[in-house]
Amino acid sequence: MINLKMYIDGEWRDSENMETRPVINPANGEVIAYAPEGTVADARAAIYAARKAFDDGVWSDLSAQERASYLLKIADKIDERAEELTQLETQDNGKPLREAGFDMADAASCFRYYAGLIRNPDGQTYHVADPMQAMVVREPVGVCGLIVPWNYPMLMSVWKIAPALAAGNTIVYKPSEVTPVTPMKLFEIFEEVGLPKGVANMVMGAGPVVGHEISAHPEVDMVSFTGGTKTGKQIMKTAADTMKKVSLELGGKSPNIIFADADFETAVDYALFGIFAGSGQVCSSGSRILVEESIYDQFVERYVERAKQIKVGPGNDPETEMGPLVSQQHMEKVLYYIDLGKQEGATVACGGNRITTNGLDKGFFVEPTVFVDVKQDMRIVQEEIFGPVVCIQKFKDEEEAIKLANDTVYGLAGGVFSNDGAKAMRVIKKIRSGITWINAYHPTYNEAPWGGYKQSGIGRSLGTFGLDEFQEIKQININLQVEPIGWFSN
Ligand code: NAD
Repeated sequence: MINLKMYIDGEWRDSENMETRPVINPANGEVIAYAPEGTVADARAAIYAARKAFDDGVWSDLSAQERASYLLKIADKIDERAEELTQLETQDNGKPLREAGFDMADAASCFRYYAGLIRNPDGQTYHVADPMQAMVVREPVGVCGLIVPWNYPMLMSVWKIAPALAAGNTIVYKPSEVTPVTPMKLFEIFEEVGLPKGVANMVMGAGPVVGHEISAHPEVDMVSFTGGTKTGKQIMKTAADTMKKVSLELGGKSPNIIFADADFETAVDYALFGIFAGSGQVCSSGSRILVEESIYDQFVERYVERAKQIKVGPGNDPETEMGPLVSQQHMEKVLYYIDLGKQEGATVACGGNRITTNGLDKGFFVEPTVFVDVKQDMRIVQEEIFGPVVCIQKFKDEEEAIKLANDTVYGLAGGVFSNDGAKAMRVIKKIRSGITWINAYHPTYNEAPWGGYKQSGIGRSLGTFGLDEFQEIKQININLQVEPIGWFSN
């Protein structure tokens, strides 16, 4: 059994009322740990510790070079413990080892990226009328509340923690109640590298309790959230009372547009990867495939043939290509949507069921599922399912492809496959989404901004934009001739 504790003010703690919550391995339904069930009092203890650490300047007063050296040590420790962290991520979240291994390498790389970035020049000066000199400096926001989901327990955490710490903030971080294991290991690393007490605090527990307190508390200056759109709206409303800075990375229902002139096998392959990687539990998943009508039948036939061959199994089996869903509750939600799709009149071209054969009956496995004969107003086309379920639709020309692609409340990601470069670029420019690909789907980089248009969020993670989120901008005006202005008579 993995031993889990919260980390508050440099100490490992149980919940104040000693309550716990079981953490389940989704591949077999076994309990792997009991996580402390944080309370409002625990959240407040973490907030006060972060506030004190920030106000005392134990972190923000360090030079960028000194903070960067901590971040580099954290990156090295992640690399050293990558094998252990990968195994734990797979046990807790269910993702195949090769996906979890990639996440760990990317997490280390993210800390290194922000260690470098924070040492770059970042101010501005302006030529204003004599005798004034005007300039801008960047400062940390203060105490940052960081709330993350379960689909990339390590990586989603690091996308926030690395830039927040690099900028000199102190943090109160909450992992998903479903996947607290690797986040706790990350905080072990923070302790090992000697991060000053109170700089990084972690409170586990329920969103409406701990997450709500972080979003509401007046001593928290900013809340950076990744998760569902509905929760994001709730957090924004809660944070409004204290006018916190808010950064939101939310859900998606992203289009993947395949033109007849695309390289056929490349398009099929990426369209599979676009939805079935991560068992479809990826915010940017290409969950709506739009195919030009002249190749529609051929595309569906080949796509279904390939989807049926995906090897579904436990993440720790090296043969596995697609793992389970993260929890029983989430599996039930996905199965509900599959049922709904049938009721709405769509046709299941393959999949559509929970898998209980080959020893998978205790886990939360669902077949790769392809819907055809879908209509744009169906809920399975409009709503985020967040599972291995894709809709394939037909379009007749460029204009219709763009119209269908943009016709949801979301605007996170999108892809276009075509060998006509000008057309691909024209279409990408019309897609109202923050993350896009041409002739590919999913690859993304710590250096480039990540985030959505419309109801997919506000603000950006990663890149220089991701650091901006965690900084305030201060204007400084200096009088170079110190004498009265003389505006009023004596
Ligand atoms: P969720 O919204 O249910 O929960 C996310 C986090 O918010 C959890 O830690 C949860 O405990 C907390 N929370 C829940 N209610 C809260 C409240 N009232 N106040 C404060 N915190 C609260 O999301 P999930 O099911 O964990 O994750 C899946 C969702 O995350 C999907 O919609 C997916 O698209 C989205 N996601 C988005 C991105 C992105 O970059 N845009 C990345 C990953 C996941």
